[in-house]
Amino acid sequence: MLELTTLLSRLALILISRGDSAAIFPVLTAVFEKRAVLGQSLVNAFFESVLTGCQDRIIISGGDLWDHVPVPYGAKTVSDERERRFLALVDQCYTLNLGTLVVQLLDANLKKLADTKHNWGAQTIRRHTVGGFLQPLARMLQAHNVAPTPPLKALFELILRFGFYHHLPGKPQKPRGWAHRLRGCDRGQSCKDCRDLDRFLGSEHDETWRFSAALPRRRHIENQLGSAGLFRLTTEKTRSPYTLVVLKLGREHTQDLEKYARQVDELYSWMTPLQGTYARDILGAEAFDELVLFRTLRTQPGLGNVAGTKRPALEPAGASPNASQRPRLGFRPVPATKSPVKFIVLE
Ligand SMILES: [Zn+2]
Repeated sequence: MLELTTLLSRLALILISRGDSAAIFPVLTAVFEKRAVLGQSLVNAFFESVLTGCQDRIIISGGDLWDHVPVPYGAKTVSDERERRFLALVDQCYTLNLGTLVVQLLDANLKKLADTKHNWGAQTIRRHTVGGFLQPLARMLQAHNVAPTPPLKALFELILRFGFYHHLPGKPQKPRGWAHRLRGCDRGQSCKDCRDLDRFLGSEHDETWRFSAALPRRRHIENQLGSAGLFRLTTEKTRSPYTLVVLKLGREHTQDLEKYARQVDELYSWMTPLQGTYARDILGAEAFDELVLFRTLRTQPGLGNVAGTKRPALEPAGASPNASQRPRLGFRPVPATKSPVKFIVLE
């Protein structure tokens, strides 16, 4: 037994001094799976030593959750692997009654993610983070009867708010009168025709604009106006040069609202894995309504049926009842006693 203890102690020291995550996770798993042979006190001491000494290489960083290089359909990314290993480690810790170590890990995660939250861009958010990390983490915490705590709420809220919610654009504002967004031109201010066009577009009073010019200039304006169905274009050919007549149809704001509603609906659909889960207890009803159900965003005035499709019910059938209606989760206290086996962490 003494030899085994010495061996594991040295293994822990090697991991702490120079192990990377590719080595740390598999070794921890191997030791965990041999716990019946090694004895739980020895395994627990090993976990305590490695998790404390290697914390910086174990925790999930913003890069693990958000940096994403597109891979072929169905393929795993390095990040997916990292999340899976981290979740497995959390499960192992609770199985070993080492919940305090998980609390320390999640707390370190919270600090690390909070430091980088302002760098998370809309281009790097990953749908997988909801179903591949937050949902299984919530399920695991519930399975191990872990009480929802303020740090847990803070971790979930941080990821949902800064990873997803903040990247929604604001609701489009209704323009005054006939005013449209300006189009600009890749020739900049040197293009007089586009300056005139923008003056017309920006006017809240002008519904129609008449533009007499040779064909190339009229074509340029037609191209600038696009084919999104926002204008009716006709050409009067009674005299030369011909006149392009532009009529605003007043649809721009409606189209903007439709696009916005689609963006809200898409992000809402990303949150589906969290519905009916312990995430509601972790987040609390108010934050869950805001960040997972998007209740405020999806019931904004003017957003009703602009997408032309029937909106799904705010919460699917069979979803989680309110936390207050659910039986209270028992909190399995984590034993405060230290493992009888001690490792010398530093020589
Ligand atoms: Zn132009």
